[in-house]
Amino acid sequence: MTNTYEATLEYAKEQDKADPLYLNRERFHIPQHNNGDTVYFCGNSLGLQPKSVERLIKSELEDWAKYGVEGHFQARNPWFYYHHIFSERLGRLVGASKDEVVATNTLTVNLQLLMLSFYRPEGRRFKIMMEAGAFPSDQYAVETQVRMYGYDPKDAIIEIAPKPGKHTIEESDIIVAIAEAGDSLALVMFGGVNYYTGQLFDMQSITDAAHKVGAYAGFDLAHAVGNVPLSLHDWDIDFACWCSYKYLNSGPGGVGGLYVHERHYNNPDTFRLAGWWGNDEKERFLMRKGFVPQKNAGSWQMSNAPVFNMVAHNAALDIHDHVGIKALREKSLKLTGYLEFLLNTIEHLSFEIITPKEEDRRGCQLSLLFDSRGKEVFEALTNNGVIADWREPNVIRIAPVPLYNSFEDVYKFYNILAQIDAQ
Ligand SMILES: *Cc1c(COP(=O)(O)O)cnc(C)c1O
Repeated sequence: MTNTYEATLEYAKEQDKADPLYLNRERFHIPQHNNGDTVYFCGNSLGLQPKSVERLIKSELEDWAKYGVEGHFQARNPWFYYHHIFSERLGRLVGASKDEVVATNTLTVNLQLLMLSFYRPEGRRFKIMMEAGAFPSDQYAVETQVRMYGYDPKDAIIEIAPKPGKHTIEESDIIVAIAEAGDSLALVMFGGVNYYTGQLFDMQSITDAAHKVGAYAGFDLAHAVGNVPLSLHDWDIDFACWCSYKYLNSGPGGVGGLYVHERHYNNPDTFRLAGWWGNDEKERFLMRKGFVPQKNAGSWQMSNAPVFNMVAHNAALDIHDHVGIKALREKSLKLTGYLEFLLNTIEHLSFEIITPKEEDRRGCQLSLLFDSRGKEVFEALTNNGVIADWREPNVIRIAPVPLYNSFEDVYKFYNILAQIDAQ
């Protein structure tokens, strides 16, 4: 493949032929429109279903029917240890050891639980820094955390916004703000990739700056995991959490995941809310008093594993692990580059790409901000078999996902957009 793109269907098809990941498309159910595949550019919101899920759900149902309660130890993947089957694959995906990650709960729940551990305001040090315009659930979570300790969000939350007239945040503005906040800062909590603009943050620099002033650094990786390479451990990040239904294709409401740096789970002073599934496994069924946390991130689990919910995660992680985030990213840069190239040739519609132009400051998503008529364009796309994502007030988010989207998808999208009437 080359990076001298061409705006023709032949060119797009050639790229697909040369793409070593192209065949993965076959592993997913692609929603249909007029008896053909839709152009599904919404994998940043809900990833597609791996075809293998159905078989795996059936086999889990069989084990339940066959063993009843004994499935906890007799099932093909014993339920007592079910969450273990994800750890190695998740570790490879996010750049952590298998003990630093666990598939458990859901995203906002994990964010709240991790903030209970890592937002411990005391004296002068009570502030949380986050990006302005973070996903609402994260805003609510942070707001209620500071309220729980009696602070007014206006005093305790520092939001970093883009400079006037800009759409994305300058990395240096974050670093400067952290230094300025100094010892008033308890926690820096950012999205790894902002859901709205698609901006990828430099998590390592943010973490370094936070640590320099004695604050913790945590990240919501909803839009980063399975999208961009991560090295959570090497970047020295304190904690992170993610959902599995976006780029990880594990189904609506799918089990979330969390990461805690080893220095924290090994520290007996690290506070965590307890439940029996976080307890030392050897003693879990002894039903004794006194919580003994596991010596891994699994100690943040509370309830027993939602096995049926996790089956799709198992199927999807197999595919991700087989492909690997490195190869995925390589294709992603070309695929999104092609989309950007084609969009830049369109002159009859008035929009601006607000996602950063630099490859290392974005994942696969491009966000198009329309002057007007955005909704109309979005509806025309939908009517022509493009599944994209509309965000108020005027943004269409387009996510060509390298795991199952093709260059032909990108070309088709462009072709449909090019035929929408100008007004
Ligand atoms: C998708 C998303 C969520 C959704 O939270 P759930 O608890 O999984 O419903 C939260 N935060 C961010 C940044 C997201 O992108």
